[in-house]
Amino acid sequence: MGKVTGFMEFERKAEPYREPAVRLLDYGEIYTDHDSQRLQTQGARCMDCGVPFCQSEEGCPIHNLIPEWNDLVYRDNWAEALDRLHKTNNFPEFTGRVCPAPCEGACVLGITDPAVTIKNIEMAIIDRGFEEGWVVPEPPASLTGKTVAVVGSGPAGLAAAQQLCRAGHAVTVFERADRIGGLLMYGIPNMKLDKGVVDRRVKIMEAEGVVFKTGVSVGDGSEDSIDIRTLRGEFDALLLTTGATVPRDLPIPGRELGGVHFAMDFLTANTKSLLDSDLKDDNYISAKDKHVVVIGGGDTGTDCIGTSLRHGAASLVNFELFPQPPAERAANNPWPTWPKIFRVDYGHEEASHKQGSDPRVYSISSLNFVDNGNGEVKAIRTVDVEFKNGKFENIEGSEREWPADLVLLAMGFLGPEHEASDPLGLDYDERSNYKAEYGKYRTNLDNVFAAGDCRRGQSLVVRAINEGRESAREVDRFLMGSTRLP
Ligand SMILES: Cc1cc2nc3c(=O)[nH]c(=O)nc-3n(C[C@H](O)[C@H](O)[C@H](O)COP(=O)(O)OP(=O)(O)OC[C@H]3O[C@@H](n4cnc5c(N)ncnc54)[C@H](O)[C@@H]3O)c2cc1C
Ligand code: SF4
Repeated sequence: MGKVTGFMEFERKAEPYREPAVRLLDYGEIYTDHDSQRLQTQGARCMDCGVPFCQSEEGCPIHNLIPEWNDLVYRDNWAEALDRLHKTNNFPEFTGRVCPAPCEGACVLGITDPAVTIKNIEMAIIDRGFEEGWVVPEPPASLTGKTVAVVGSGPAGLAAAQQLCRAGHAVTVFERADRIGGLLMYGIPNMKLDKGVVDRRVKIMEAEGVVFKTGVSVGDGSEDSIDIRTLRGEFDALLLTTGATVPRDLPIPGRELGGVHFAMDFLTANTKSLLDSDLKDDNYISAKDKHVVVIGGGDTGTDCIGTSLRHGAASLVNFELFPQPPAERAANNPWPTWPKIFRVDYGHEEASHKQGSDPRVYSISSLNFVDNGNGEVKAIRTVDVEFKNGKFENIEGSEREWPADLVLLAMGFLGPEHEASDPLGLDYDERSNYKAEYGKYRTNLDNVFAAGDCRRGQSLVVRAINEGRESAREVDRFLMGSTRLP
């Protein structure tokens, strides 16, 4: 523990985001430059708890050695802090940027005071590591002669591929998109995670020996997909990390109207067009001068808000079925569980700046979309709801109509597509996810494993990294009879 009295002397001071007025003008990351001095002081707030809940199951799913690197940063020993950070996390540059930080929700200091700024410190350590040239490829010392195919290049597939490659296996990652990264590339927008940050890590993995094949859809072998059964036969082990990509729909009257889109169609096209042509190719759904309604909250909803505002939306509202969360933890949501409290994310802050008020409307349900006469949406009708007797009930007389010429559906995901798994004869769980026990990751098929959102359902980057790392350990055990992977 760096400074014994640090937690009593210093207040929490998180790194600020760039000002909304400035950051709305571009797609650059929302973060400001790291202030090492400030972060060292923040590191000194860590109490080096006897039981560090921050790195427990409730806190950090990959069990980052948080008190150790807090202390090392306080002592200005950034290189060793990076070494400790990489021991548990292949990609701290991703989690340092996008993780909601359950570690901070579980931080012991949070019982009486604001939690340690763990996420800021994590991001600063890895950014410093790249700046200083400390992050270098770590190719295996020797090869095992075993081969592994990974299908899907999101954080789960990437973490597994890096671990397996470093263990000496020949790893090939198959990705149907034209760029590597899964939702790190084509989900989370540039404002939260610059794509250069993803590419930089992919280059390191290539130098370590991982082979990436983009534009390859793995399926039943018909049309433009390659046959997964062939793949299974050609490789010693097959790991599926295909994500939970089936979106939840809103089957209300008018759903078929033009202008009603799934959030991912909007976000993916925007990032691709931005990367391909700086949005000059027009291959994206524009929110410019439109009345935008985002249905559903969470990260996806926030990203739709941030993107629409950058396009120049005329107005923006965000519907949430559930009531507004409380400002403080409720009695049934005690420390160290994830605090379900009212938060203002970057998109909400930007909308407030532009429109003068928070865009979120709570306890509201959509009734139908209204046609403009040309098959395009022009409005959406809603009703207010209250949660009674275990279900939502409409409040009589509360119907409203909202102008809407672009509606983005961000209501979560139902599970993985079965394009690659059906031809294999994979078993599913009751929620249509690939069936494989947590910690073992083995499917009903001998050499086939599954990890990440396709196994557990839509979740978080940090959980995908956790499953990627752990599934690599199990694949290694399967291939070699024993394993030294964590
Ligand atoms: C808009 C959005 C914003 C998010 N923001 C955050 C955030 O801020 N913080 C956070 O922690 N989490 C966030 N999440 C959740 C997080 O991104 C996911 O939990 C995580 O990416 C899951 O990783 P994965 O590797 O399991 O799958 P994915 O990242 O979904 O990657 C799966 C990959 O498999 C590929 N694939 C699928 N089928 C095939 C096939 N048949 N052949 C070849 N390739 C295939 C897909 O193209 C995709 O690239 C967000 C999710 C969304 C949708
Ligand atoms: S729980 Fe908080 S104070 Fe305790 S070790 Fe972890 S970061 Fe430090």
